[in-house]
Amino acid sequence: MPFRGGVALREAYRRAEARGYAFMANNIAESNTLVGLLDAYAGAKSDLLVQVSPGAAKFAGAGGKVAGLRALAGLVHVLAAPRPIAVFLNLDHFTTGEMDLIDLAIRERLVSSIMIDASKESFDENVRISRDVVRRAEGSGILVEAELGKIRGVEDEIASSDAFYTHPDEAVEFVRASGADLLAISIGTEHGVSKGEDIKLRLDLAKEIQAKLAKAKLSTPLVLHGSSGLLPDQVRAVIQYGIRKLNKDTHYQYVYARTACEFYKGHVADIIPPEGTEDDVVNLFPGGTWSPNKKVFDPRVVGKAIQDGIRGIALALLEQAGSGGQTLGDEEDS
Ligand SMILES: [Zn+2]
Repeated sequence: MPFRGGVALREAYRRAEARGYAFMANNIAESNTLVGLLDAYAGAKSDLLVQVSPGAAKFAGAGGKVAGLRALAGLVHVLAAPRPIAVFLNLDHFTTGEMDLIDLAIRERLVSSIMIDASKESFDENVRISRDVVRRAEGSGILVEAELGKIRGVEDEIASSDAFYTHPDEAVEFVRASGADLLAISIGTEHGVSKGEDIKLRLDLAKEIQAKLAKAKLSTPLVLHGSSGLLPDQVRAVIQYGIRKLNKDTHYQYVYARTACEFYKGHVADIIPPEGTEDDVVNLFPGGTWSPNKKVFDPRVVGKAIQDGIRGIALALLEQAGSGGQTLGDEEDS
């Protein structure tokens, strides 16, 4: 099934709400992580939500965010095509500095949803900016995620030093005023690496926000950022309380590095010349006493190991989310 747009994504969230599961939203910046994710999700018959941050677009575009976004979206669209699942793409943590990129993503239908992060602004300014993106996306079907409350830690290009919890009454007012399709809330999770026991998680807050939204007849899927430190039981609990999207980046980054590290550690003698050998990379070690092993240093070899590693961790995480076996499959629309 090809990449699917916002209309299908809305349906996917509706199904997740009705059946009580969630989507891991998985950050990518290059192809190995994406291939591992596609393998895992296709195998588990789960729809797949991947996301690209401004930093990832910048990286993929060698400094140019527009080229990087087009390149990564192209990878997603093309590699999704033969897979028997729906694949969605979200823009992760885009800010007012990236409005041109947001417009381009809408115009070229590169994405299924867009997160506009104006959470560091005042409530009114956050509403105004989020509302503006909702207006820009009108008619495209593309969903808009906004954030209320701040999440502790360093995420990409945004750093906030304090954790601020989302206020339930403000959440209702914010969704009404901004028209956001999804709401990212802050309940005490942190971006980056953290240990489960250090998090002052307020699960009660997610429950209260969900209840207040429901009472106001708003069926807004809730989003949790900084969920890397959550224990599996905590993930299951927040899903019960209305979280439908959990952002995941750190696990993949770690497994990527760990897999590469272990692979190269086991093949030092195939790649690094032994002592006494002239270290002549330009002439690829002439003389015939030692040469590196092409069967090992070909980047596709470590790349395949990384893809397999990502597939493994992605499977474990999607099992926590409960999205396996729930794919929209061949159902029509988009
Ligand atoms: Zn985030």
